[in-house]
Amino acid sequence: MLGNLKPQAPDKILELMALYRDDPRADKIDLGVGVYKNALGVTPIMRAVKAAEKQLWEAETTKSYTALVGDQGYRDAMAGLILGAGFDMGRVASAATPGGTGAVHMALELIKLAAPGAKVWVSDPTWPNHLSILKHLGMESTAYRYFDDETRGVDFDGMMADLARVAPGDVVLLHGCCHNPTGANLNPTQWGEVAAHLEKTGAVPLIDLAYQGFGDGLEADAAATRLLAGRLPEVLIAASCSKNFGIYRERAGILLALSSDPKAKDLTQGTLAYLNRQNFSFPPDHGARLVTMILTDPALKADWMAELEEVRKNMLALREQLAQELRRVTGSDRFGFIAQHRGMFSRLGATPEQVAALRADHGIYMVGDSRLNIAGLNDKTVPILAEAIGAAGI
Ligand code: PMP
Repeated sequence: MLGNLKPQAPDKILELMALYRDDPRADKIDLGVGVYKNALGVTPIMRAVKAAEKQLWEAETTKSYTALVGDQGYRDAMAGLILGAGFDMGRVASAATPGGTGAVHMALELIKLAAPGAKVWVSDPTWPNHLSILKHLGMESTAYRYFDDETRGVDFDGMMADLARVAPGDVVLLHGCCHNPTGANLNPTQWGEVAAHLEKTGAVPLIDLAYQGFGDGLEADAAATRLLAGRLPEVLIAASCSKNFGIYRERAGILLALSSDPKAKDLTQGTLAYLNRQNFSFPPDHGARLVTMILTDPALKADWMAELEEVRKNMLALREQLAQELRRVTGSDRFGFIAQHRGMFSRLGATPEQVAALRADHGIYMVGDSRLNIAGLNDKTVPILAEAIGAAGI
């Protein structure tokens, strides 16, 4: 039986990680996988997470099961973080999931149950796992234009022209902030236009919020999500705690499903419990519990927010430095977009050959579509990358 399996295409980013690991060069630079790293190249455990773990170790008396949709305290705390204190929480059905990936997967399964033929619109490009989960679930998807190869900003006219074709009941997958893989994001006016368009057409947004706090701050990064949540009757939000709490391996995520009809909300809540039960029964609890402790303890929360700001500002400073170094090396401002992009990633706009040359000639590893992880840099490696980009003629 098992011999009949067809080989699956390996994940390109995980493949790149293995190539990097096996490269013997001491001065190699990893700008591949999407994990935050500090100036020493370490993905640290945040102070508040360590403190909460210590408290939890002292206080926890059982490892018995939680609820099928996860702990209520976690779901309330996360809904507050994402939607803001003033939101009508009576509209929100939710379930804890294994990471943001689990939340995206569950959102798509929920759509499949509610509207079996629904078409899902995805940005071109998007996080590759969006496409592969859609394919795995046998769901129909269509790309909308998103990235302008010339300016390396958002091709907003192209995006809206493509979204003009959405039908009522279609789903539009949007990155709430810090677009992966491009780093290019809509401005508040453009978000307003998207909200108005979805309102007019009756399409449902599915917002992937994996980087709240990594772009312009915790509140600013949630602004687009809150705008859509406030204006539209139905909104799905798949959020991850992997990046902003630095708890990648704990697998903490959440799906929020908003409706404006109490009957639909109850149906949705029941369906989320059903979906968790079919897939894995109970969601992981350890990471979710740490997040709850941090968000509900003023001292822990203040410390977490302060450290998250340090992380965000570090990435912004690296962006500024890289844009400046590239101005010096190339004698032009054509890489100015790097300072405008937000989040961990920027798409450089290099060809696959140029990306391969950076790896072969300089030991610099980035994803084949020229996505680089800004957090993989430090103030010593920024000038090295800038020189290499200049030498590769990008
Ligand atoms: N969505 C996007 C856009 C992402 O970049 C990621 C992480 N790479 C996720 C979702 C999911 O992250 P995780 O499952 O690790 O929480």
